[in-house]
Amino acid sequence: MQQTRSALVTGGSRGIGRAVAVRLARAGYDVGFCSRSADEAALETARLVGEAGGRAHHVVCDVTDAEAVGAFVGEVEEKLGPAYAVVNSAGVLRDKPMALMAARDWRAVVGTSLDGAFNVCRAVTRGLLTRRAGVLVNVSSVIGVYGNAGQSNYAAAKGGLNGLTRALAKEVAPYGVRVNAVAPGFIETDMLDGMTDKAREAALGKIAMGRFGSAESVAELVAFLVSDAADYITGQVVQIDGGIAL
Ligand code: NDP
Repeated sequence: MQQTRSALVTGGSRGIGRAVAVRLARAGYDVGFCSRSADEAALETARLVGEAGGRAHHVVCDVTDAEAVGAFVGEVEEKLGPAYAVVNSAGVLRDKPMALMAARDWRAVVGTSLDGAFNVCRAVTRGLLTRRAGVLVNVSSVIGVYGNAGQSNYAAAKGGLNGLTRALAKEVAPYGVRVNAVAPGFIETDMLDGMTDKAREAALGKIAMGRFGSAESVAELVAFLVSDAADYITGQVVQIDGGIAL
């Protein structure tokens, strides 16, 4: 029988993070997750994780705050045991053309996706190396690979995250720890709420499969990368985008 393992998921209250939390619970994990708000969404994730057979523990934590991230990791490990799987899914959008982009728009996006992932990786790496076991998955984006007009902050954050993924994978591989990224295309979550009909049409026109993806499909990929079935995969940025051409 597989021993219960614990997982950490940032941005686990909604969207892809929630789907990952629930999918990992189905795979036998207890799941500690964070978000900035203690809201209905966080309660719902906890309920769904429980329904999927895992213990859930939510912590209010802004991943841009290194101290708060340290406390998040410590609290979850105390409640659920040492983390084995760590998924960085927290992310925000502040799309603007460069000429109109305020420094705070840049900082919010880079701070969440890139600094946030750094804060989490740094907080968990020593433990994973000491235990010589563990898997990190960073939720990146196709925008980090192709770029996109009006998203220089997001492209920089996700491109940086891809670099972090490849470098850290090399650093920790000798210790039996794997690091990968998933790079989704357009996924139906709250993140796309601000898209106009025109922008949706334009996006759909670039996707070979002609539709947006689901958070559950991304969670399947994350669960595969976390699983022992992926035990020889590290340092990869795996696109899941319905055949997008940006
Ligand atoms: P959602 O907006 O649905 O969910 C974002 C989650 O992150 C929420 O739980 C939110 O909770 C949390 N969050 C945001 N900022 C922080 C923060 N500073 N600290 C802690 N938690 C935070 O987004 P998605 O699920 O769509 O996105 C998840 C990841 O997937 C992101 O990294 C995104 O860039 C990436 N992605 C999404 C795509 C899409 O089309 N949806 C495509 C490609 C990549 P709260 O607001 O309470 O903090």
